[in-house]
Order: sequence, then C-alpha cells, then structure tokens
Amino acid sequence: MVTSYSNNVRKRLTDRGRVRPPYMVRIGIAMLQGARHEHCEAIQHAAIEMNVDVEVVELRKKSELDSTIQGLILPGGESTTMRIASQSESLLDGIFEWISNHPKRPVLGTCAGAILLANPGKNHTPFIDLEVSRNAWGRQKFSFEAPVTVSLKTPEIIHEAHFEIGRDRYNHKPLPMLNRVANMTTKTFSGIFIRAPRFIEESIRCEKVATLENETVGVLQGSKLALTFHPELTNDRRFHRWLINEVIDDKS
Ligand code: GLN
Repeated sequence: MVTSYSNNVRKRLTDRGRVRPPYMVRIGIAMLQGARHEHCEAIQHAAIEMNVDVEVVELRKKSELDSTIQGLILPGGESTTMRIASQSESLLDGIFEWISNHPKRPVLGTCAGAILLANPGKNHTPFIDLEVSRNAWGRQKFSFEAPVTVSLKTPEIIHEAHFEIGRDRYNHKPLPMLNRVANMTTKTFSGIFIRAPRFIEESIRCEKVATLENETVGVLQGSKLALTFHPELTNDRRFHRWLINEVIDDKS
C-alpha cells in the first residue's frame, strides 16, 4: 500500500512560502511489527529537515516491493515475531530479494532490523558482516538510554520540522517523542536500547559508525546501516536524513 504524504509536505512548504523541494524520494518501511509508525513519522520529519519530498511506501506484502522503491527501513520489534508474521505474505523474503537485487540502495535496520540484516536466513547471504547476539543486554527491564558517539557523516538540518501525524486507517498513531532534540554541536546521540542485541566485537568486518563507550552499536556496510538502538524514538533524525541523502546520491 502506498501512502503518499508528498502532497501534504509540498502544501506545507508552499504555505510557508518555501521553495518546492527539488527531490522526490520513495522510501519503503516494513510494516510487520514494532516501531514502524515512529519510523514513518521520522522519515517525514527528516525529509522536511532536508527540504526533500518523500513518499512513504508501507510494505505489508512481497508484491508491494518493486524497483521504484529507492530506500528501505527495517524497524525494530521482535525479530522472531517478524519472521513469523512475514510468512503469510512473504514480506521479508521479498525485502531480502529487493536488497540483493539493488545492492547500492540504502537500508536502515534498527535493533531487530539490524538482526535481520545480519541473519536474513538460509536463503540469503548476510547483508552486514558480523555476528549478533540477541537480547544480550538482558531482559526487557534492563532496557536503557545512554549517549552514543556517532562517527557517521549525516546531513545538516535546513528547516526545522514540527508537525504531528494523525491516526492511520488502522487507528495507529506514532508515540509522542520526548524532547530529545539533538545537540548538533556534539556527536553524541541519545541511544535508546530496548531489549537490544549486541554486535560481537571480534566478529565485526564492516565499518564501525556508532559506539557506546567502547562497544560498537552501529555499523555501515556499503549502503546498509545497522543500529542496535532506536533512533525513531527520538527527535534526532540524523540517521533518517542519512537514508534520504543516500537515496539522492544513489544513481543505480
Ligand atoms: N529483542 C529483539 C529481538 O531479538 C530486538 C529488540 C528490538 O528491536 N527493540 O529481535
């Protein structure tokens, strides 16, 4: 299903007398489970912050994936549940095929999404080269928030984005964000770790782009960015801006 937010965004910008965005990007979000609505909101905020027009494609079936999608988000949640939930419509299989067929197109995998990129299952080779240990910080009650140091280069904010998304046709609405606006003068990011996985440090054979103290919590392999925390639960959209920027840079 395609949800076009682009008209709203364009109208909003026009109402404020801004220049029409020069780029239109199409981003698919796996709507299996977990914090998917928050990612929908985050990517729209990020687009406004960059003065880009975005079309969010809510993916629920394999058939909804095609080559017009330019970038993907794999949200967090419960990776086992996501694998099971995807069976009826083969969504994950379709997503992994799409990633294999479009190796240069960017993908942002957060938490369970990072697990899926590392372990896509027996029919696909891993998209990030490392071993991941699920639930390795302990139980849900040991979830935490802590400052993460980010070395990934991410685009600056051109416009502030302030708007709320209403309920969708399934009556879902993104959670309200606490005011964790980025302090852009530092590289620290407010990392929210919810029953998060851990990357096995010695196994990492891709670029390390985010650390929590001395531990790697974000990696980049080509155009795949995998984070063990939840950037969509903050007001800091830098990783979503990265995704949009990669789409704009990608000529494949
Ligand atoms: N514990 C989850 C898993 O192993 C990941 C948690 C998350 O995405 N917040 O799939």
